[in-house]
Amino acid sequence: MARYIGPSCRQCRREGMKLFLKGERCHSEKCAIERRNFPPGQHGKDRKPKIIGYGLQLREKQKVRRIYGMLEAQFRNLFEKAAHQKGITGENLLGSLERRLDNVIYRMGFGTSRPQARQIVRHGHIQVNGRKVNIPSFQVKKDDVIEVREGSKKNPTILSAKDATAHTPVPNWLEVDRETMRGRVTALPQRSELVQIQINEQQIVELYSK
Ligand code: SF4
Repeated sequence: MARYIGPSCRQCRREGMKLFLKGERCHSEKCAIERRNFPPGQHGKDRKPKIIGYGLQLREKQKVRRIYGMLEAQFRNLFEKAAHQKGITGENLLGSLERRLDNVIYRMGFGTSRPQARQIVRHGHIQVNGRKVNIPSFQVKKDDVIEVREGSKKNPTILSAKDATAHTPVPNWLEVDRETMRGRVTALPQRSELVQIQINEQQIVELYSK
């Protein structure tokens, strides 16, 4: 599946907030939001647009899509599936986003950012219930056991991510043994424990319901 390969910090500057796409850099003073928090482009500094209505809905959707590193078609598909599930569409959507394998690896602390976790999955370092899975969009289920594969437990990228995230809290719906690099999905993610960035998923539902 294709992915966005342009500059990550530009996406944060467009949304006017940190989306945490670059791991440790996001927590340093090198972060572009710390240094130049205005929209990208020649006139970014001069423009102070008042965003209302459709614009607000669009920005919310773009923000969430960018946090999880998805392109429009894939995001829209996920929304359509969420709309057909039982329950509240917006919460279903966020739940599905959180249950993506790349996000789970990030949440478990084996990647410092979602893009890095995605690469770790793509490179075949992860197994789910004993079988290799290299599909970042793979949806984990309750009681799935997710593990760094035996041959990858000394992978320098994963080891350094593990060190960098040593003090990052793991969400309640995941159980992680950092020593064995193994974790389990103990429950389905609840809305209250989903994301560290404020999200108004209702705006996305309204945008796609037009
Ligand atoms: Fe770049 Fe990370 Fe800062 Fe976003 S949060 S601007 S990705 S360094």
